[in-house]
Amino acid sequence: MTVTMGSAINLVVLGPPGAGKGTQGVEFARGHGIPQISTGDILRDAVRSGSELGRRARATMEAGRLVDDELMIAIVRERLDREDVAGGFVLDGFPRTVAQAVALDEIMTGRPPLIVIDIAVPDDALVARLARRRVCGACGQATSVDLSPESRCGRCGGELVLRSDDTESVVRERLRVYADATRPLVDYYSQRPSFRAVDGDRSPAEVGAALAAAVDAVLAERAAGRAPAGESRA
Ligand code: AMP
Repeated sequence: MTVTMGSAINLVVLGPPGAGKGTQGVEFARGHGIPQISTGDILRDAVRSGSELGRRARATMEAGRLVDDELMIAIVRERLDREDVAGGFVLDGFPRTVAQAVALDEIMTGRPPLIVIDIAVPDDALVARLARRRVCGACGQATSVDLSPESRCGRCGGELVLRSDDTESVVRERLRVYADATRPLVDYYSQRPSFRAVDGDRSPAEVGAALAAAVDAVLAERAAGRAPAGESRA
């Protein structure tokens, strides 16, 4: 499918586990009426439904490692071929390796260029956050035990549970995998005019405002013709 709509916001939210990619991605997508595509959610749904994909991915996810590139690229290629991304999308959790980023660039050929926002959070803050993170067993909404001491989901009232890969040892492995495989993506994208980093070590509302401002800045530059696709940022 070729998408030529110039105003589409094709947003990639980068960042380590616990940076708030999911929370921010959902909010941004809702505000702009575009789909939020989380590869972690796609895989967790597959595990829950017991599909072939779920059976293949489950052990890898529970160990905090990465599902293989070929499979992830096929999932995202199929998802980005659907009509509902014509007005834009938010990708959360993909790409996670340079090979995935290269494949995404190829998938994006002929479409409005990606906007890539890195949510940066120091490691010690991530470990503390992930220990407090709970997700709703019914709707998947993430929250912090600090915010929901009553242990029910603020959105649907469902029961809050610890994600099976948010245990301390798996979190440590996920941070190691992030440093090895995913952090190099910051270098991969950082010279592009449509890359921005935002400080994620703040309240969700402040991070959301910074993310929205960063996207607006990229769009304004693009509209002014100062940052055509592919040109390096000074
Ligand atoms: P997330 O919800 O994004 O933290 O993803 C949860 C888990 O799903 C990860 O720890 C990986 O095991 C797997 N996963 C999600 N997205 C990807 C991806 N793009 N590449 C490889 N594995 C992924």
